[in-house]
Amino acid sequence: MKKKVTFRFYEELNDFLPADKKKIRFDHYFIDRASVKDMIESLGVPHTEIDMILVNGNSVSFGYIVESLDITNIQHLRSKPLREPKFIADAHLGSLARYLRMLGFDVLYKNNITDTEIIEASLNDKRAILTKDRELLKNNKITHGYWIRNEETEEQVKEVITRFDLKNDIREFTRCIECNNILEVIEKEKIKDRLPSKVKQWQNEFRYCKHCDKIYWKGTHYNRMLDIIRKIRQNV
Ligand SMILES: [Zn+2]
Repeated sequence: MKKKVTFRFYEELNDFLPADKKKIRFDHYFIDRASVKDMIESLGVPHTEIDMILVNGNSVSFGYIVESLDITNIQHLRSKPLREPKFIADAHLGSLARYLRMLGFDVLYKNNITDTEIIEASLNDKRAILTKDRELLKNNKITHGYWIRNEETEEQVKEVITRFDLKNDIREFTRCIECNNILEVIEKEKIKDRLPSKVKQWQNEFRYCKHCDKIYWKGTHYNRMLDIIRKIRQNV
């Protein structure tokens, strides 16, 4: 026999729903008993996005079977934020990974990474998954993850800063954009032979990545980066 349950999704969870289900109560029909997690994910919303589920005004866990009557105490479902923000980005988010590194955040990224590798790195190394693939976030093993809404990189950066509350953790110019390694300060004298002549003339502050042998200075890139950071600080 077909049974009916009424759903209403709040705030940014509506991003996952089709237009006719956004921000309104809507009926959902089902035959077999199912956990509320499975039912919600079948509607398109990954569990990592959900902070709380209320059933007839009472908060329930993901395992709550729709139709049963056992109601537990108030509980927040989204796992506590990771103390030290660390991320792993999926293969489509290379540009976001570079921007976040530019702001000093630890972001693993490989353009050929598999879903299994992403999940393993997330669990072993306590990294939040950043992805445009909502199916990936439905995996039961995942505790920390976020579905990136925007296509435009600067907007994606703002999303991550807001969702993970990172505004005060920005440390620009401290991490290698290419490989995620922490940069060290290096004296001009040691690298001057490798610098373009204009840079040698005008720049005096340098950072160095031991891992990939890249030298950073506060050139045009840096100024563009400061502009972006300013915009982010105003907007998050
Ligand atoms: Zn590097």
